[in-house]
Amino acid sequence: MARYTKAVCRLCRRERMKLFLKGTKCDTMRCPIERRPYPPGQHGRGRIRESEYLLQLREKQKARRIYGLLEKQFRNLYDKAAREKGITGESLLRMLELRLDNVVYRAGFASSRNQARQLVRHGHVNVNGKRVTIPSYAMRQGEVITLRDKARKMIVVRHNIDTLDRAVPQWLEVAVDEFKGTVRDLPLRAQIDVPVREQLIVELYSK
Ligand code: SF4
Repeated sequence: MARYTKAVCRLCRRERMKLFLKGTKCDTMRCPIERRPYPPGQHGRGRIRESEYLLQLREKQKARRIYGLLEKQFRNLYDKAAREKGITGESLLRMLELRLDNVVYRAGFASSRNQARQLVRHGHVNVNGKRVTIPSYAMRQGEVITLRDKARKMIVVRHNIDTLDRAVPQWLEVAVDEFKGTVRDLPLRAQIDVPVREQLIVELYSK
């Protein structure tokens, strides 16, 4: 599966905000947003004419980058969300939250969604007792993730568990001693703390 491999800090600078794509570096003064909070490139500090389209586009790009999806994957997920009953924007965010890589990240086993994706890809995560290596796997209510034996001994995982100071969302129940996370409920919009105005994404894709 294709993935974005260039410098990720540029993505935060483009959105003019921290998207927390690099794990621990994001909380330090080494974060480029602290020193250069303007878009990258020659015209980064120039004046930009804000249009309605630009606002919608930036919101979509921001969401896509936070969850680390390429355009095609994001669009497919949007189309799926649009077919669901209920508010499309909320369905989209709920589906993004329920991706397996995001659940591993939210449980605090990985410092970034990228790292979580790698744990999944390398076969370190079980869902309901069976190994799943697909980061986009859609978790359902009641499903349980557990780290496999090898991952439990990994220094990086132990370090994350000991040092990450992130609140676990209410829809997820984590038993750190058992390296286990359970999707207790489907996430509600109020429980999803990403700084995205999903309505703008819906407007963009509805054109
Ligand atoms: Fe974004 Fe983290 Fe890089 Fe800062 S360090 S620009 S928050 S990815």
